[in-house]
Amino acid sequence: MLRLLPLLPLLCAATFETGDSEPYPHESFSDKQLARSLKKANRASGIEEILVRDERGETQAKKTRELPRVGLSALLRVHGLSPAKDTVYRLLVPAEDDRIAIVVTWEPPRAVVEVGVALEPLHADQDAISVVVLDQDGAVWDGAAWGLLADALSRLTDVELKRIEGLRVVRMEAPPPGVRAQIEGDGRLVALYDQRDDQSSLILTNYAVQGNLGSFCGPAADPRPTSLHTVLHELGHAVHQGRFRARLQEIRALESAFPTPEGKTREAIGRHMALTKEHKSEEVSPVIAAWKAQFDSSPTEYGNTSAPEAFAEAFALYHLDPQALHRAMPDAHAWFESDYDP
Ligand SMILES: [Zn+2]
Repeated sequence: MLRLLPLLPLLCAATFETGDSEPYPHESFSDKQLARSLKKANRASGIEEILVRDERGETQAKKTRELPRVGLSALLRVHGLSPAKDTVYRLLVPAEDDRIAIVVTWEPPRAVVEVGVALEPLHADQDAISVVVLDQDGAVWDGAAWGLLADALSRLTDVELKRIEGLRVVRMEAPPPGVRAQIEGDGRLVALYDQRDDQSSLILTNYAVQGNLGSFCGPAADPRPTSLHTVLHELGHAVHQGRFRARLQEIRALESAFPTPEGKTREAIGRHMALTKEHKSEEVSPVIAAWKAQFDSSPTEYGNTSAPEAFAEAFALYHLDPQALHRAMPDAHAWFESDYDP
């Protein structure tokens, strides 16, 4: 078949920090021991005041002994992480059979603690998933992986779902070797959107499904596993490439219909050339072009690498924790609410 379009693969890897899921060292401490250790640690790092934020967002100063046990544990954990100023930590703190979502905002000389609810594991049947096509290569789909994908898809708008119609989502144990080589040094690869000449896929590895056991995403009052952010981030790439994928299918259909240049009608050749030109233009995604025209920053550090990464991060936050996007980038939140056209 005549192939006029050599395409470079577009790879997007989502990674997360590891080493954050070790058991809490102070699980065996009594409440008194926890409070004493915390006072000592606070003195050492200049924390003079602890504020507790309630579900309405209002804060109130509390004494160490007034904090719930999970709050004490979370603060001690943050001390152990060599915290940076003005950083928000989202921790899952073990409490009996549950893991409670706690947000700690580190703003020396104060720390703000928000105690949320227990993280519920995501679970779904395969029937819960439509629009995308499930595939597997060396790993097997299960209730947890279906649950993750189903939750992510349930947050998308109808137009976004239309853009990803027929997208192949592949469960793999680990990324293919060639792919791993390309991103080595960039943290642990957990999921990626892979755009190639003949096929585009969203790959979910074991790490992507497992998530980070020590932290969560979304609001503390409605926590979700970190892997959900990863899946939404990759779906964001699939959405911004949606119109491009559709164009590519059109080109391929024309090539199949007219396998040789001689067999093509003038109209088919013209259409093919127009599509090819459009396709080769630098900006294949109108959504990314619109994003770039408006913004030169990202709501997260990971998104600072490029405009598509910033978009994918904002996309994930908008669907997962719109208030967090509003806090980090109010203009981007407003853009998703009004001008955004995938
Ligand atoms: Zn990405």
